[in-house]
Amino acid sequence: MAASPYRSWVEISLQQIGDNFNAVKSVVGPSVEVMPVVKADAYRHGAIAVSRALIQRGARWLAVSNVEEGIALRQAGVTARILVMADFLPVTRAAMIEQNLTPVIHSLEDLKELDQLANQRGIPVNYHLKIDSGMGRLGTRAAAVEIYEAITGAPHARLEGLMTHFASVSDFTSQQTERQTRYFLDLCDALRAIGMVPPLVHMSSTGAIAYGRREAWRDMVRPGHAIYGYTSPGRGKAPPNLLHVKPALTWKASVLAVKDVCEGALIGYGGMFRAPKQMRIAVLAVGYADGLPHRLSNRGHVIACGTRVPILGAVSMDVTTIDVTQCPGLKTGDAVTLLGREGAVSIDAQEMARTAGTISYSVLCAISSRVKREYI
Ligand SMILES: *Cc1c(COP(=O)(O)O)cnc(C)c1O
Repeated sequence: MAASPYRSWVEISLQQIGDNFNAVKSVVGPSVEVMPVVKADAYRHGAIAVSRALIQRGARWLAVSNVEEGIALRQAGVTARILVMADFLPVTRAAMIEQNLTPVIHSLEDLKELDQLANQRGIPVNYHLKIDSGMGRLGTRAAAVEIYEAITGAPHARLEGLMTHFASVSDFTSQQTERQTRYFLDLCDALRAIGMVPPLVHMSSTGAIAYGRREAWRDMVRPGHAIYGYTSPGRGKAPPNLLHVKPALTWKASVLAVKDVCEGALIGYGGMFRAPKQMRIAVLAVGYADGLPHRLSNRGHVIACGTRVPILGAVSMDVTTIDVTQCPGLKTGDAVTLLGREGAVSIDAQEMARTAGTISYSVLCAISSRVKREYI
């Protein structure tokens, strides 16, 4: 085995990210705009490289969470449209407009602020208005008439999109998505009836695409998870998953040391693991400061020498210990796989999340900046 290039690193396939984007496009068809979500540094896949790859595959819109993320893309030369989904704080508004980012407006008061700002600058500003259709988080709950009046009362800002977000999109044991869809589409109809037709109506994240909630696709969809190769398992009687996507990220760590310990030896903080017999252990150069969940202590697995081997004792800040009794050839400088595949054996973020009692989104987003990135 060649010596590992870093203590811990991720390998990201931009080809796979592009293929996942195409998989979404082929499910929703050519009449629906696909706006990949690259917030949180593209779920830690690296927003700049991922955005460039997606633009090369034809993406015209990208979505981020906040203005800072949008500015980072602009500074990298990204000229595509960028929707900022969860910002418009007083401190970021001016930069939003200067950098030609498109705000999501969450309240009718904020719409007034945007209108004033656009008026001061003397440029019309496009925005998307978010409706709280029942998630109870961001978005306006105002009735159609109030919304109509607020929009017509903001002549320097231009309504380009009307959107909402689902709380339980992959859960088929609940009717929450149907209720949210009805609320939102009724509101769209009411606005249309009084002459207001936003060019882009959008509601769907990955789950609504994967599980074929076609009434929610409308003009545009906003996949994040699917772009990185994941769909959440459906709850209840979920229809078949339409999306054929694959994880684009592999996470590796180097072996710092290998040693034999005798029966009864305690491993790591708190002596959480006691060797039941003589065994060989490897100490990996990765820990919770790199994003490996502490909850994997004494219960997670990694792939070493093509086999699944257990984590022994506590995951600590910088190192993690595994059982390599089955891997006599493993030595310092070799690599093991935390997320990814070796031959027939694989571990993905969903499995790691289940073991750690969290969600796959959180596993991906937790991979810290200390972990190097390579694009393959
Ligand atoms: C994060 C986010 C998405 C993407 O969700 P996925 O489940 O990752 O596809 C879409 N819309 C909004 C408003 C979001 O915050």
